[in-house]
Amino acid sequence: YEERRSEGVGAPQPSTSPSDGKKFNCALIKDLRVWCHHRDAKWELGKIQSVSGDVTHVKSSNGKVLAVPTENILPANPDVLDGVSDLIQLSYLNEPSVIQNLQYRYSRDMIYTKAGPILVALNPYKEVSLHGSDLIAAYRQKRLIDNPHVFAMADTAYSEMMRDGKKQSIIVSGESGSGKTETAKFAMQYLAAVGGGSGIEEEVLQTNLILESFGNAKTLRNDNSSRFGKLIEINFSKAGKICGAEIQTCKHVVSRVVQRAIGERSYHVFYQLCAGAPIHLKEKLNLKAANEYEYLKQSNCLTITDIDDAKRFHMLTEALDIVKICKEDQENAFAMLATVLWLGNIGFSVIDEENHVEVDMSEGVTNAAKLMGCKVSDLMMTLSTRTLQTGSENVIQKLTLSQAIDTRDALAKSLYASLFDWLVGQLNKSLEVGDYYAGKSISILDIYGFEYFHRNGFEQLCINYANERLQQHINQHFFKLGREEYSQNGMDWTNVDFVDNMECLELFEKKQIGLLSLLDEVSALPKATDMTFANKLKQNLSSNACFKAEKGGAFRICHFAGEVLYNTIGFLEKNKDSHHSDYIELLSSCSCQLPQLFASRMHNQVSPFLKLNGATQQQSVGTNFKDQLFKLMEQLERTSPHFIRCIKPNGQHLPGLYEHDLVLQQLRCCGILEVVRMSKLGYPSWMTHQQFTERYGFFLSRNVASQDPLSVSVNILEHFSVPPDTYQVGYTKIFFRSGQIASLEEVRHRT
Ligand code: ATP
Ligand code: MG
Repeated sequence: YEERRSEGVGAPQPSTSPSDGKKFNCALIKDLRVWCHHRDAKWELGKIQSVSGDVTHVKSSNGKVLAVPTENILPANPDVLDGVSDLIQLSYLNEPSVIQNLQYRYSRDMIYTKAGPILVALNPYKEVSLHGSDLIAAYRQKRLIDNPHVFAMADTAYSEMMRDGKKQSIIVSGESGSGKTETAKFAMQYLAAVGGGSGIEEEVLQTNLILESFGNAKTLRNDNSSRFGKLIEINFSKAGKICGAEIQTCKHVVSRVVQRAIGERSYHVFYQLCAGAPIHLKEKLNLKAANEYEYLKQSNCLTITDIDDAKRFHMLTEALDIVKICKEDQENAFAMLATVLWLGNIGFSVIDEENHVEVDMSEGVTNAAKLMGCKVSDLMMTLSTRTLQTGSENVIQKLTLSQAIDTRDALAKSLYASLFDWLVGQLNKSLEVGDYYAGKSISILDIYGFEYFHRNGFEQLCINYANERLQQHINQHFFKLGREEYSQNGMDWTNVDFVDNMECLELFEKKQIGLLSLLDEVSALPKATDMTFANKLKQNLSSNACFKAEKGGAFRICHFAGEVLYNTIGFLEKNKDSHHSDYIELLSSCSCQLPQLFASRMHNQVSPFLKLNGATQQQSVGTNFKDQLFKLMEQLERTSPHFIRCIKPNGQHLPGLYEHDLVLQQLRCCGILEVVRMSKLGYPSWMTHQQFTERYGFFLSRNVASQDPLSVSVNILEHFSVPPDTYQVGYTKIFFRSGQIASLEEVRHRT
């Protein structure tokens, strides 16, 4: 749409300048508009006054004349290019020019900008009137071809799906709080409008609200932070109407249910339930206010500014109704949430010198038992003892205080994780429609963004590792495949410098001596501690440039998005997803439906060969996380991707505030400038000769099949007078500059 304007067939290409790189090598002439930076200050715009040797005098925009070392000068773009909608149009693609261009647009509420093939979306931290149904219609009718937008990108995905019958994906990436979840929802909203009609689109949209309730939480970075990764594949009929969807999630680290940093919350749904449950439900679940539950009050944060949890609860139940989850199932699910909360209120008393405990009789135990449908005495027994099998006999061993607390918390986490999986399963059942058309689907990926706090633990490690994988997928698409395609076709590849994060991924994934394998290895040792793990890392990973061991069990990882200091405290415990066989037994003895179901699923996950000390060890959390991530990536690899990069303009969540360094760091780490540079110089789109002939050779006579495919392509190119500098012909494929296919499509439609 937009590229068509600047690069119509026959139109000249945007000039590519050798000055795109860091060094200034155009003539330094008086009055030339330049960027300069003086000492460590920000880049400033000015005009050259004079040049003497290595020093250039620049008159800055506020009238001051600065003497600047010539090496600190970069060319600025002419002001006609201020605020261009695609960075590819900039004559000089240096960092200050890009930063200023985005700021120019941001200050005018133009939050979307194209960076070649990537859509950049800046978080406005306020409502911008850019997402109404009038705009959906305008993009559908291609009336806003000059304005990059998530709707335009969704439209491209939809049109390409309809045109090529090929699965598409929209991949949204960016740091925590940058706006991925909101942007992904706008994309879905667009697809629902374009492919709607059957009513199922409303159900698809409502899954967002439901999964946010159960899977998002307030963190120090984002009041609505996604704590799980989600890929939703929306299926379309042959005619392009939405007919179903399938949600795949990448497990989250549910330790948040029992423990988290001060100032953060557990999953929204707990607070929503406490605040909004109607009287009859409150009575049934013996529910109290959030501040009466240990699991909720421990982090000193019960509410979110401007959010009404009671109202959200109401919205949640409405959404559950829409996706046809029956009232009984809804109440069963709420009962499981209440069980988790009551479990947290269960206390223990030490009864002997060895620190063994008994469960205190309290409303916590009685309510939890009642809600699960088990005997109070069985629950008390499960939380204070463990059964060991020695030969043919069962020996009952008392638990110490810390073991009992671990067991209680493990049960709470298992219940919550099982409930989340069950919920996703129910949603998928509701959205499942058998009759979709193969090849017609659009998947939208929205995962937890890269994050770093003052203290970073296992949860951050998993999240940042997932982002590392995603970045690799993006690199693969833009850089690596490009290079291979070029050389296989005998063409010259202009070397493009990009941040390859392969080494960091190896740090995590290498067999036996990667971080995740080492964690599993140490987790299996009976007496290992978090310190054992820290030392193991130090011994094995120090040769990797992305790893630095630190004092006191800490370590640093240089991620593509920045360096993060992790503390190994709690890693071993969090990596173990051991279902204690005793509590599986307890759950299966319950009279309520969900605990029984969860127990049978836990049983199925457990391999009988791995029974250790009464705890049945299943795959570790880390390895399981990796496997799920690979599944998501595999699914994405089978699609034609469209990329959106969300950018957080400031760390204070404020509208209108644009912090240069923060924006720059986010642009740098994901290689956006390199992608633009490559799109300017390179030929990012390609087709095989056969595909090209099938699509554009409609005017040729039928006997072309006997000609060699390359000559047929050349014939077609000549027929349409495609300018020679917009394509390159390889042995098996033909490559186009960005935007050229759109121009050809236009000609094809006109013909
Ligand atoms: P995480 O990785 O933590 O899940 P995220 O990238 O998904 O973060 P969002 O939850 O989408 O971030 O956005 C954070 C907040 O920023 C939103 O709750 C909202 O207040 C604001 N926001 C994001 N995008 C927009 C937008 N397009 N318009 C208005 N506000 C927005
Ligand atoms: Mg999110």
